[in-house]
Amino acid sequence: MNYTTHDYRQEYPLRTTIAEVDLAQLRANFRAIRTRGGNTEVMPVVKADAYGHGIVPCAKALIAEGATMLGVAFAAEAEPLRSDRRIPYEIPIAVVTPPFPHGAAEYCRLNLEFCAASLDTMRAFSAEAARTGRILNAHLTLDTGMHRDGIPPNEALEFMRSASYLPNITIHGICTHFATADEVDKRYFHLQVRRLNDTLQTLRDAGFLFRYVHAANSGAVADSSTEAAFTLLRPGIALYGYNPSPELASPLDVKPVMSLKTSIISLRRLAAGEPVSYGRRYTTPRETTIATIPIGYADGLRRSLTGKARVMIGGQYFPIVGTICMDQCMVDVGDAKFSVGESVYLLGSQTSEHGEIRIDADEWAQELGTISYEILTGITARVPRIYLNS
Ligand SMILES: *Cc1c(COP(=O)(O)O)cnc(C)c1O
Repeated sequence: MNYTTHDYRQEYPLRTTIAEVDLAQLRANFRAIRTRGGNTEVMPVVKADAYGHGIVPCAKALIAEGATMLGVAFAAEAEPLRSDRRIPYEIPIAVVTPPFPHGAAEYCRLNLEFCAASLDTMRAFSAEAARTGRILNAHLTLDTGMHRDGIPPNEALEFMRSASYLPNITIHGICTHFATADEVDKRYFHLQVRRLNDTLQTLRDAGFLFRYVHAANSGAVADSSTEAAFTLLRPGIALYGYNPSPELASPLDVKPVMSLKTSIISLRRLAAGEPVSYGRRYTTPRETTIATIPIGYADGLRRSLTGKARVMIGGQYFPIVGTICMDQCMVDVGDAKFSVGESVYLLGSQTSEHGEIRIDADEWAQELGTISYEILTGITARVPRIYLNS
């Protein structure tokens, strides 16, 4: 039986619990997204530490694959990119959440593009850019119906008339964000697309042209029901191998990039009727072997998964039993013969002579009533990220 390709136990003696991030799979997902999106340009969204995968190695791989620019949620998230030699300083980074006016100096210092949603911010950014002798690139953010940020479409023309005169600012992009692109019912999504297209037309008629029109999150990339004029895709979750919802009519051909892996640290044989872990919430139904693994809720294995999660060992599934602790949890392996040090996968896939089995973040998300996004970004910093195929 051969179900591990590489043994990290010796290489990472400080922590046997690791998240393996497969950069070749990340790049394959990027290509699948770009193809589905009509081979237009792509702004990979690497916010929240690349959805928990590690921003610098992921950004480097995505740039190598041809990313036009990178998207982050806050200016602070660009700091590790701008201070790392592996990331070319020339790569544009856009902050997709509109800034406060007082953030201008940091945007200049880090050479960031901003998403404009207020004239006050535009004026402050223009003044700071002029003061420091820079030209800042901006994107006009429209609120076409998400109602989170952006200006109403009917104010866009007025906004551009005022903002386009501001010195040291180039508004070269226009963007919006969809509320329901990943849902079966497409009506609201289509309404938002129509508002975007109508506004674009109005602005074009008045002579305002944009190098980039971007709106397509993962759900919109997967959608083929609209001929939207997006010139720059803005996917996040799909890059990391997940479709934004199980409802998509034609899911994107992507696979999970992250595996979560640990190894057995101790084993005990228990008689029937013995309790396991805090609160004695599990009692052995028969004589069995309980394996302890060094991962718990402080790593992102949420305590509310108690009684609901399983692992893979030796190409087979086994349940996590008893209350999940902060640093450890227990697995009922029955009569299987494993040794201390045996590899255990919590997320990922394993192949044995019985075929391939897998557990993905959607499985946890379903148990927890959430989405894969929250699972992936919830794998905490205590878990070392190990990069494969870089
Ligand atoms: C997070 C985010 C995205 C990416 O969305 P996914 O559903 O992960 O593809 C795109 N645009 C904005 C503005 C975002 O906040």
